[in-house]
Amino acid sequence: MKITDVRTAEVRGHGYSTYVRIYTDEGVIGNGECIHGGEGCPTMVHALKRYIIGENPLNVDMLFEKMRRSRLFDGAMSGATVTAMTGIEIALWDLAGKILGVPVYQLLGGKFRDSVRLYCDSHAGKDFSPEAYARRAKEVVALGFDAIKFDVDETQAGFRNDRWNWNASGPEVAWMTERVAAVRQAVGPDVDLAIDMHGRYDTASGIRVARAMEPFNLLWLEEPVPPENVAAMREVKLNSPVPICSGENLYLRWGFRDLIEQQAVDTIMPDIPKCGGLSECRKIANMAEVYYIQFAPHNVCGPLGTMASAHVCASIPNFLVMEWHWVDYEGWDDFASRPDRPVIENGRIALTEAPGIGLEVNDETLRPYLRTGTTLFGETPTTDGAPAPNR
Ligand code: MG
Repeated sequence: MKITDVRTAEVRGHGYSTYVRIYTDEGVIGNGECIHGGEGCPTMVHALKRYIIGENPLNVDMLFEKMRRSRLFDGAMSGATVTAMTGIEIALWDLAGKILGVPVYQLLGGKFRDSVRLYCDSHAGKDFSPEAYARRAKEVVALGFDAIKFDVDETQAGFRNDRWNWNASGPEVAWMTERVAAVRQAVGPDVDLAIDMHGRYDTASGIRVARAMEPFNLLWLEEPVPPENVAAMREVKLNSPVPICSGENLYLRWGFRDLIEQQAVDTIMPDIPKCGGLSECRKIANMAEVYYIQFAPHNVCGPLGTMASAHVCASIPNFLVMEWHWVDYEGWDDFASRPDRPVIENGRIALTEAPGIGLEVNDETLRPYLRTGTTLFGETPTTDGAPAPNR
């Protein structure tokens, strides 16, 4: 079997997702989704076609490495080029699973678990009161999630004297603490609670906030400092009574190497459909396992990228929990679905015996969300785009 064509659809969601569809000379088709590749991601996918057309789609790792080595001068060490390669890689896994008649997790070495636990990235909306945080937390837990996350870097609260300075004032730390306390009190001790600072604070502030979080038994405190300085992250970790998590904007094994080897975090959160794909993230998880670091992927994808990520989570021992971002968007799993059961049930994603990723893309659901001027897998370009389905 040989690869004959690669086509794309660029669809609004959390930023943009690029759906990648790979065709073969025997009619089998594979679908992938990558995210946050920026403007031009489909163009990069098309530029990568030349490395895989005519190749056997079952040689997934070799084809990924062929693309990576061929494009090192064009950004294949980190960033958007890696994301474009990732979309292809995920479509190749879907294709390989369909060709061999097995789920992708089977090709990744088999599964450690039958379902993948999700945490719900929860937002209190436009009301930033402690009561709104508490109310929201209860709503999300009532949906079946036993792990949740809230943001506390709500700079619109007006604490900053200078919008560019990353120092947290005493009142700002107190503001954060009050809201986390309200959430913990609302959900009780048995729900896992993560808190995200989005890398928007300096080292001293990160440590101050981490210490303030001690009473709330956090699952983790996410990116208290910007992620690019591993030594600063490590300093926060060494001075923090709560676990520290980082990595949603790192790429490939080499991007995670220092963070892992220096044990600068307790948990890593690669964005699988952005930072290198299924095989690469399984290898990153294995590197982390050596240092007893947990694997808790960042995920803001549609259902296809989410389900693809779930196959990696199933295939590693040190999986902790995976993000789900779309609780406010009712039609989320219309973008890609399976006939027998919803993608998410009771805060989890069940792995099944369905071949490949196990979801089929619903083209007509994608169509209204296409980026203006782009095509649905090679069709006539759109002239207008629909608003994003969520914030
Ligand atoms: Mg984050």
